Amino acid sequence: MDLSTRSREIQQRAREFTEKVFFPMELELEETDTLTRAQHQTIKEQVLHYRLNAIDHPIDVGGQGYNIFEQCLVHEEIGKATGGLWNHVWTPPLPLREATELQKKTYLVPACAGEIYIPYSISEPTGGSDAGGVKTTAVLDGDEYVINGEKMFASGCERADVILLHAIVDGDPNKPTVFIVDPKAPGFEITGLPKFMTHGGRDHPNVKYTNMRVPRDRILGEIGQGLELTKDWFLEARIWIGARCVGIASRALDLATNRAKERKQFGRAIIDFQGIEFMLADMATQTLAAKCMVYRVAEEIDAGLDRKIAHARVSAVKLFCSEMAGRVVDQALQIFGGRGYMREYAIERLYRDVRVERIWEGTSEIQKVIIGRHLRKRGPSVYSELM
Ligand SMILES: Cc1cc2nc3c(=O)[nH]c(=O)nc-3n(C[C@H](O)[C@H](O)[C@H](O)COP(=O)(O)OP(=O)(O)OC[C@H]3O[C@@H](n4cnc5c(N)ncnc54)[C@H](O)[C@@H]3O)c2cc1C
Repeated sequence: MDLSTRSREIQQRAREFTEKVFFPMELELEETDTLTRAQHQTIKEQVLHYRLNAIDHPIDVGGQGYNIFEQCLVHEEIGKATGGLWNHVWTPPLPLREATELQKKTYLVPACAGEIYIPYSISEPTGGSDAGGVKTTAVLDGDEYVINGEKMFASGCERADVILLHAIVDGDPNKPTVFIVDPKAPGFEITGLPKFMTHGGRDHPNVKYTNMRVPRDRILGEIGQGLELTKDWFLEARIWIGARCVGIASRALDLATNRAKERKQFGRAIIDFQGIEFMLADMATQTLAAKCMVYRVAEEIDAGLDRKIAHARVSAVKLFCSEMAGRVVDQALQIFGGRGYMREYAIERLYRDVRVERIWEGTSEIQKVIIGRHLRKRGPSVYSELM
C-alpha cells in the first residue's frame, strides 16, 4: 500500500517518538517497575512535542483529529515499546465526545492537553466479560446521585483526576449509565493494588464506592446510554489493539531475524537451519496478514462502513491480531534460545506484554461470541465481502 504523504509523516513521527523516548526507558522500567516523576514529565513533554496526544479527539477540543487509519499507524508504532509504555500516550476516553459543552470545557479539553487524567472504569468482581452484570448503583437523592459498589481492574484510578464510572441507575440493569466522578470526594477508597504480569508504570486497583455523592449534572450522555457509550469505546480500543499487536509482532520479527543472522551454532548462522528459517517465514506471513487486515478495516471505517458491520469486523481484527502476536512472539523467543528467557532482552518483555491483549477489551472468546452473533444475524458476507 502506498501511504499518503500525511500518513507517512504521522507514521514516521510516531516511530521516532517510540525509538527516541520509549526505547531508552524500557530497561529501567523493567528494573524498577515504575516510572520516575522525571520520566513522566519527559513523556508528557515529548508526547506534546511529537503531537501524539488525544489522537482520536477533534482539533477544536485540543486533539489531533486523526482518522481511524492514522490512529492505527500511531498505535502500531507505540505498541512496539515494552512495559506497556504505549499507555502513557494519552487518549481521553472516547465517550467524552457525548459530553455537554460545559463538561467538554471542564474535562475533555484539559484531558486532551494532558493536564488531567481520566480513566474509564467498568469491570467489577461480578461484571467482567458480561458488562451487563455491573452491580454498582447510582440512586437519586435530591439533586445528587449516591453511588455504591466495587470496581476491579480500575486502571489508573489511583492517580485519576476524574473517573468515568459505569453504574446502573436505581439498581435497574436497563439503565446502565456513565458518571463523571471525583476520586477526592468522600466515599472513594482504593482497597487493593494487585500485582500484574507487566506493571507499565501504572496500577489497576480495586476500588470501593460507599455513599459517594455525585451532582446529577455529572452524567455523561443520558441515563441508560452506558452500554452504547462503552461500545463506542470498544470499536476504537479493539482496532488499536490490532494495530499494537502488529507493532509487537513486527518488532519480534525484526529482533528474531537479526538474532538468527548473527547467532552461530554448529559452524553456521542459525537462520541457515531450515527449522529456524521456516519459523521466521511463518512469523513474517502472519505479521503481514494481520497488518493488511488492520489497515483495510481501518480504511473501510474511515470510508463510512456501517457502524454494526464495523463492530463485527473489528472483533475479528482484535481476535486475529492478538492471537497472531502471541504466536509470533512465542516463536521469536524460541529463536533467542535461553536469552529469550532473560528479562534484559526485549523479546522476553514482549512475551509478557502481549498476553493481556487476548484478555482486555473483551477476551478472545467474547470476540468469537460477537462474531458468531453477526454470522447468525447478518450472514457470512459480513466477513467474506469487502466494502
Ligand atoms: C491489566 C488489566 C487492565 C484492565 N483495565 C481495565 C480498565 O481500565 N477498565 C475496565 O473496566 N476493565 C479493565 N480490565 C478488565 C478486563 O476488561 C477484563 O479482565 C476482561 O473483560 C475479562 O473479564 P474477567 O477478567 O472478569 O473474566 P471473566 O469474565 O470471568 O472470564 C473468564 C473466562 O471465561 C470466558 N468467558 C466468559 N464469558 C464467556 C462466554 N460467553 N463464552 C465463552 N467464554 C466466556 C472468558 O473468555 C475467560 O476465558 C483490565 C484487565 C486487566 C488484566
